[in-house]
Amino acid sequence: MAGKAKKKTAAKKRTALAKRKAPKPARKAKTDKIGRAAGTDSKRVAAILAKLEEAYPDATCELRHENPFQLLVSTILSAQCTDVRVNQVAETLYKKYPDAKAFAYATPSELEMEIRPTGFFRNKTKSVMGASKAILERFGGEVPRTMEEILTLPGVARKTGNVVLGTAYGITSGIVVDTHVLRLSKRLDLTRNEDPKKVEQDLMQVIPREKWIQFSHQLIWHGRRVCHARKPKCTECNLESLCYSKDKTV
Ligand code: SF4
Repeated sequence: MAGKAKKKTAAKKRTALAKRKAPKPARKAKTDKIGRAAGTDSKRVAAILAKLEEAYPDATCELRHENPFQLLVSTILSAQCTDVRVNQVAETLYKKYPDAKAFAYATPSELEMEIRPTGFFRNKTKSVMGASKAILERFGGEVPRTMEEILTLPGVARKTGNVVLGTAYGITSGIVVDTHVLRLSKRLDLTRNEDPKKVEQDLMQVIPREKWIQFSHQLIWHGRRVCHARKPKCTECNLESLCYSKDKTV
């Protein structure tokens, strides 16, 4: 009997040790029945949209422009740069280079100097000149109106395409996912993805299509004015009761 008891105790010890050594299973993020982030319940999404509308009924693109071509150029220049800085540069830029033809046949070194304050000016000069040439040669001097075509322009990806199609033409092609939309969509638990393309797809699933354009503007405004990357002003946020982000400061 004493031998049996000893064996049992040893077995218990081994099991306890094994349990301690075994890695804990990774905690699964909460998702709904079809695998979307838990925060995408239609009532919650509708409440978020209503709050955004209440706070920013007139939200719009803050890049100043007089036509779709200028908006395209300004959006290319806005990569890694503030809209305020781009608007400052744009003020003289569009007087010197009034249309696609002027940009297409610019002297690259001169254009680089104009664009320099926006950063990454060599690449941006190449993109702006390349896009201008393509618009002249393939699209009769007009910025194309479909995502498929606009994506063929040098330096233009989905974000720029969505800005131009949505703001300049009122065409609902997708949702602009810039740094603010990316950060806020995660904080508001509308997506669990990191890659902007996947985030856009997630948002397109849960935001009604007729709201896509305005939703992008409103989220960008909220990110610039209240839900800052470092210190979100949660006490001033009208979405506070709907937000359970770990970044909350209240
Ligand atoms: S409560 Fe805070 S973290 Fe949440 S959306 Fe508002 S500002 Fe952002």
